[in-house]
Amino acid sequence: MKKYTILGLARSGIAAAYKLKELGYSPFLSEYKSADKIENSDQLLKDFECEFSGHTSRALDCDVMVVSPGVPNIPILQEAEKKGIELISEIELGFRLKANDSKIIAVTGSNGKSTTVSLIAHILEVSGKKTILAGNIGTAFTANPIEKKGIDFIVLELSSFQLEKIVDFKPEVAAILNITPDHLNRYDNFEQYAETKFNIFRNLSSSDFAIINADDPVIAKFSNKIFGTKLSFSMNDKTDIYYQDGIIYHNNNRYDSAEFSIKGPHNMANCMAAILAVSPFDIKPEQLRIALKTFKSLPHRLEFVRQINGIKFFNDSKATNTDSVKYALQSFENPIRLIMGGRGKGEDYSILNKYISRHVAKLYLIGETIPEMKKAFSQTCEIAECSNFEEAIKMAFREAKNGESVVLSPACTSYDMFANFEKRGDKFKEIVEGLT
Ligand code: ADP
Repeated sequence: MKKYTILGLARSGIAAAYKLKELGYSPFLSEYKSADKIENSDQLLKDFECEFSGHTSRALDCDVMVVSPGVPNIPILQEAEKKGIELISEIELGFRLKANDSKIIAVTGSNGKSTTVSLIAHILEVSGKKTILAGNIGTAFTANPIEKKGIDFIVLELSSFQLEKIVDFKPEVAAILNITPDHLNRYDNFEQYAETKFNIFRNLSSSDFAIINADDPVIAKFSNKIFGTKLSFSMNDKTDIYYQDGIIYHNNNRYDSAEFSIKGPHNMANCMAAILAVSPFDIKPEQLRIALKTFKSLPHRLEFVRQINGIKFFNDSKATNTDSVKYALQSFENPIRLIMGGRGKGEDYSILNKYISRHVAKLYLIGETIPEMKKAFSQTCEIAECSNFEEAIKMAFREAKNGESVVLSPACTSYDMFANFEKRGDKFKEIVEGLT
């Protein structure tokens, strides 16, 4: 029986540990943080042999090391490689352990992953398929009963970090939605970030399907890294599926976006990717129509919160990069009071100037990126520098005119002020609910 070490005890590492235990293995758990910083460390110490506060040579006594997506290239990994230990991700482990009758649909991209995988899972469920939705969304891959027979589909949202240590992982359908400069602070360069995403296609054969965005110039540049049968979607050209004047065209079927509950050009792209993702399987156009009609947008993604005195409030806290803000802005007809800023990811904000000049009445800047953003936008738009989140929301509300919207779409992470984007979005909603 193989010996496993789990390196890094976050959500996926813990799930992998319990799955291996359930299947009769005795994994060793190794974490660089101290035990008091790890949730449930007391229970972990009861259930496993563990070490906290650093990785010792004990961690190297294994055949396979399951490395958490957050772990950078630390010395223990180099030592493990030298010893011939196989380094895999939790996604690779899940693939090896899952029952072979369930099909995997995997989605990556810079933006739109959660929306697209949730829609795919919704379509499959509406069509009566037994489906697990996991990965970067909800529960970890291995936290689910993946080894059991009878699950039709496992839909996985994968971040580029999760695609770093893939060996044999081979989904039946894999999609890259788009690639824009995100997480530049972790990768040496943009090419490296883009290449990691293409790992999703690396083991595909001609009976598998690679879904790509034909409008994305970066994806086009890496076309030699796309394996499997290619299916493309586009907002501009007549590809396998395309969008024109409010209608999605696929084979001989038409889907009228006026009937969809999600809106905006970015969501039309997500809908096309989802339709292509289920197209190799037995899903009827009628079932697709019902699913598209009944699918609700996820919280913190251009989420409508409330209307007061003709002013609408939208929570787009999940917009942590410029590309998602660009699409958020294009989803509005009337002027916006835009709340922006937080902890930056090294992006060039000035690319938003074009969209800000078209859609934004005034910018309310918050967080660490105030100086950088002020520099980027001062020629384009009126700016208020706000000393805190609440002040920004209240000032935007006070100054907004009838018909305008106040939108939180920060282009940044929340880590300078909040634990995560959900907490930031929840706080936004709480403050907005309290406005009179
Ligand atoms: P992810 O899981 O990749 O972060 P989400 O579906 O959670 O994607 O959406 C994240 C942010 O990106 C939201 O602000 C959303 O409005 C925006 N967005 C969603 N789909 C797209 C897309 N296809 N292109 C650009 N932005 C998008």
